Amino acid sequence: MLKEISSCSVGSDGVTRLPFTKEHKRALKIITKWMVDSGLSTRIDDAGTLIGKYNGPKNAPTFLVGSHQDSVINGGMFDGIMGVLLPLIAIRNLNNLPYNIEFLAFADEEGIRFPTSLLGSRALAGTLSPTVLNIKDNQGLSIRDAIKNLNLVPENIFNLKREKQKYLGFLEVHIEQGPILYNKNLPLGTVSSISGIERHDLSIYGLSSHAGTMPMIYRKDALCAASEIILMSEKLASNCSNAVATVGMLNIQPNVANVIPEKANLILEVRSGSDVERENLSSNIIKNVNDIINRRKLEVKINKTYEQSATKCDNDLQLILSDSLDDAAGYKFHLDSGATHDASAISDLCPISMLFVRCKNGISHNPEEEASEEDMALAVKVIENFFKRLSTII
Ligand SMILES: [Zn+2]
Repeated sequence: MLKEISSCSVGSDGVTRLPFTKEHKRALKIITKWMVDSGLSTRIDDAGTLIGKYNGPKNAPTFLVGSHQDSVINGGMFDGIMGVLLPLIAIRNLNNLPYNIEFLAFADEEGIRFPTSLLGSRALAGTLSPTVLNIKDNQGLSIRDAIKNLNLVPENIFNLKREKQKYLGFLEVHIEQGPILYNKNLPLGTVSSISGIERHDLSIYGLSSHAGTMPMIYRKDALCAASEIILMSEKLASNCSNAVATVGMLNIQPNVANVIPEKANLILEVRSGSDVERENLSSNIIKNVNDIINRRKLEVKINKTYEQSATKCDNDLQLILSDSLDDAAGYKFHLDSGATHDASAISDLCPISMLFVRCKNGISHNPEEEASEEDMALAVKVIENFFKRLSTII
């Protein structure tokens, strides 16, 4: 089934399925069929989220489950869409649940086509920016027009906000996208927390001069300072049990072979499932940045450009999920998610939980991304157990 839907893609090098495109339209037809085959009624909301409804008793509360249909460019065939499919298979083996379930296939999680993300999940949580519809893709087409292309009414996305008290919680099943389960030789794990993120823009100012005539002791080389900062960040983060630091972007000026760099601009990103650990690591790095800059007699401007707190998975749901994992696989294992997911946005609406499926070699956002059939079958079993166990607490 995943293979079939992976053909809804621009090109055949991995999967490229962006929201509100003809590939998305083709995928919607397939997902609709999956939902109907699972005995669900279907509808699409104005953010392009396809919703399959399992009807429990009248006036019963509702549980939400799902993930996103879209991919990155030349991505894998499991990221997102696997979390749409597996719960739809699990429900086929169940009946008489004392609650409703909505199975969700969000249009846009990745934020590849438009410079914003989590459109469908934010719409349900009521956390969309009022100007979101004006955001344009690189062809100049706005989200407003893209939504219209799916015959939906863009302005309605602001009316999709759900009432908190009606929802029991949310489960997202997702490929891990990292190597932890693979290296521990475990098929599945329950997520404790989705990492918080902060980004700092560092501009380092030195002095450019002739690369041949300026002796080493008189230099103010901005790139050498940046290099020291990058390695210092790596070292400090390596000593943390639960935090990571990355410099993924670096620009130097004038970027010429025979001129000492006078300016280096880099972006430092720090993530952790624990806000305290993230804040400790980043303040430790910044302190060391200032020490390096002072010792080298350079200048630095540091700007925090982004901060998002960690999202804790709900304790009760996590307990039910790890018991469900234990029933199916005979073990429990928790890990943090270093990546953001739809669950992060849904946490503003209701309690969330996540189940990770082992990712071969930890490779994701790549055509080589792979989850095994055995691991996915076990995940289906865990979802079934989870839905049954959830019945007992209603
Ligand atoms: Zn994803």
